[in-house]
Amino acid sequence: MNIKITQTDQSRISEIDFNNLQFGRVFSDHMFEMVYRDGKWVDAEIKPYGPITFDPSMMALHYGQAIFEGMKAYYADDETINLFRPMDHHKRLNNSAKRLCMPEIDESVFIDALEKLLQLDYKWVPKTHGHALYIRPLMFASEEYIAATVSKEYHFYIITSPVAAYYKEGFNPVSLTTTNEYVRAAKGGTGEAKAAGNYGGSLLPAIKAQEEGYTQVLWLDAKEHKYVEEVGTMNIFFLMGDTVVTPELGGTVLPGITRRSVLALAKEWNLNVEERKITIEEVFESHENGELNEVFGAGTAAVISPVGLIHHNGKTITLDQEKIGPFAKKMFDAITGIQYGNQTDPHSWTHPV
Ligand code: PMP
Repeated sequence: MNIKITQTDQSRISEIDFNNLQFGRVFSDHMFEMVYRDGKWVDAEIKPYGPITFDPSMMALHYGQAIFEGMKAYYADDETINLFRPMDHHKRLNNSAKRLCMPEIDESVFIDALEKLLQLDYKWVPKTHGHALYIRPLMFASEEYIAATVSKEYHFYIITSPVAAYYKEGFNPVSLTTTNEYVRAAKGGTGEAKAAGNYGGSLLPAIKAQEEGYTQVLWLDAKEHKYVEEVGTMNIFFLMGDTVVTPELGGTVLPGITRRSVLALAKEWNLNVEERKITIEEVFESHENGELNEVFGAGTAAVISPVGLIHHNGKTITLDQEKIGPFAKKMFDAITGIQYGNQTDPHSWTHPV
């Protein structure tokens, strides 16, 4: 597919304070855009980042056909720019699209768009170790039609945003609470898709958790409120004894790319790895028995985020793992080492642009 490129004649990069980046507030000079019309993707273009105009009758605003991805590009030690597992993000985007009756995108088009956009905006990839260029591909229904049906037209964009390290002054463990009142995803719903609506529904429970003094919600299954699923916008891992345990995917959990990387590395390090159902009771019992050595979240934003406290039904456990446990730290170092190119990458997870 031919991508038309229209360069900005006024880069904004000199206005940006790269030492003081707020997550998701600043956007690079260019964006990728293409339109799905009459059964095919057309009008692929990279153009200056800026406002887009749509009718208020645009279907995405009414019936929620809106999906996205979240990935990063890293400025590696050898001065290449690395995308991390872009093919995996592409697959997840297409899986989300299928669930929401939206059109898929060819892998070659997705990768070509990312490469050309980053080649144009390479100066926006922060050089400081730990910083990265956050990449947000997004697709939404753009037909002008207020009927609860499948849209015939879609827009797809890729926008990018330079971001600082998630933990600027060392790791800061998060505190979690379960909720009996709300659920994130039910079997048969859209939990395993990266659908915008999933996030809309999670805001109120997140605010309530914060009002009670917790950082994020530890989501339990929708049916029995018994099984641990994931945390905020991360997958969750438990180191019980020497065994790495994470909830199985099962349709309600978002299949994280970081999760997949953690599982692959833990297996290569010859640890026992279990993807299975885990009850919240088991987590508390394992803590009582002195077997719960570490708990951490895994996701693109923070890579690894240590959990310091879990609250459930009036009971609280605290993890005695200082700022971050040794296993979580080793995992963080291994994954970021691959991302920044100062460790070998036997899995070809990095994709230079
Ligand atoms: N779960 C949810 C609900 C998320 O939004 C994310 C972030 N995409 C994750 C897990 C982690 O996924 P990834 O490792 O691909 O960022």
